[in-house]
Amino acid sequence: MSKIAFHTLGCKVNSYETEAMWQIFKQAGYEKVSFEAVADVYLINTCTVTNTGDKKSRQTIRRAIRRNPDAVILVTGCYAQTSPDEVAAIPGVDIVVGTQGRDKLVEYVDQYRKQREPINAVGNIMKQREFEELDVPAFADRTRASLKIQEGCNNFCTFCIIPWAKGLSRSRKPESVLAQARQLVEAGYKEIVLTGIHTGGYGDDFEDYKLADLLWDLDRVEGLNRIRISSIEASQIDERVIEVLNQSDKMCRHLHIPLQAGNDEVLKRMRRKYTVAEFKETIERLQIAMPNLAITTDIIVGFPGETDEQFEEGYRYIEELGMYQFHVFPYSKRSGTPAARMEDQVPEEIKNERVQRLIELSKQSTHAYAKRFEGDVLDVIPERPYKEDPDSGLYMGYSDNYLQVVFPATEDMIGKVCRVKIDEAGPEYNKGTFVRIVEEVPRPASA
Ligand code: SF4
Repeated sequence: MSKIAFHTLGCKVNSYETEAMWQIFKQAGYEKVSFEAVADVYLINTCTVTNTGDKKSRQTIRRAIRRNPDAVILVTGCYAQTSPDEVAAIPGVDIVVGTQGRDKLVEYVDQYRKQREPINAVGNIMKQREFEELDVPAFADRTRASLKIQEGCNNFCTFCIIPWAKGLSRSRKPESVLAQARQLVEAGYKEIVLTGIHTGGYGDDFEDYKLADLLWDLDRVEGLNRIRISSIEASQIDERVIEVLNQSDKMCRHLHIPLQAGNDEVLKRMRRKYTVAEFKETIERLQIAMPNLAITTDIIVGFPGETDEQFEEGYRYIEELGMYQFHVFPYSKRSGTPAARMEDQVPEEIKNERVQRLIELSKQSTHAYAKRFEGDVLDVIPERPYKEDPDSGLYMGYSDNYLQVVFPATEDMIGKVCRVKIDEAGPEYNKGTFVRIVEEVPRPASA
């Protein structure tokens, strides 16, 4: 039996795709081994989102080649897509596949083994109009299953390379999404996270079926308790999406809506599709439609030209929005993007100082939001023993509004929907008391 080892760099979508690629090799009779072991095939799923992503991808490829110079080295993913020649030029790389055509991976490996000729199968991603079906039937995380519904992005924000790596937005057919959702529910998953590169753009390439239609159809999937959207742009939250959020009791009270900057000048230079006033209005409408909604966001600080005044204005704006948590990133130059060529790059020490201030603000906001739920009873699905004190008998799980709740539980409660009373809100974890199990469900098998 041939042995294959995987290494994934970058985002959650890449992790999902690596899992899906493993399914393809598994069906062809391969055995999975650790990346540190001697394998017959090494598959490296690369990232290119920052310049560091490229560098790390190259280092990982070289590591695999050193481990077993006789192995077949297969490189796929975003860096392979944007720089196929650079990847193919690394001595020892045998097969380069981009972000499409992954259904042929086993064929490529067989072909390489017979002919010993390098294969470069990277096509023009911008011409790709069809969603590539890649399914994952089970996940290492036993409570929550990801379901990829969309690929690519049409936005071309000035700091982002993703449209060049993943191509334009394309959506998975509704029948296929629903069939996969039913399968996951049958496998025992209660919660599905809809993922994609630009998940809110689902349906933009269909005539008359949009994200809201898909959410309603998923709402009707029997046995499914929770539907979470991994991320959605403010500009894509329309009346119909708000209506589902308001009326479906399966939609989680948590949305990740990337803001990126709290100042219109900066947003404009980033080529984002909203103003701060529009973003705020969307948040307010959401908060009416879904009271106590937890909103998380991404913020880039130190974008080229961001002045102290613009940052301060953004800081105050973010503070007022009362969001749940922010993921703060210092702007990092990505070559090949318009922002990398912009003047007035912000010095690293200023970026770091701004990052620290926003991280502090995020902690305060998270705590303030959680405090609203002290004394309330929430539905929590325990996921794993509490890391900080694994022998305490405490388990950690998320509520539908994304509070991390720690409470006394047992191993067999993992994956079940539990009612938990929130006793004490904390900046990270919230302490709770178990009340009762809402529903007994079979636990999904591990991946
Ligand atoms: S919306 Fe902007 S940041 Fe997000 S993937 Fe598209 S181009 Fe990149």
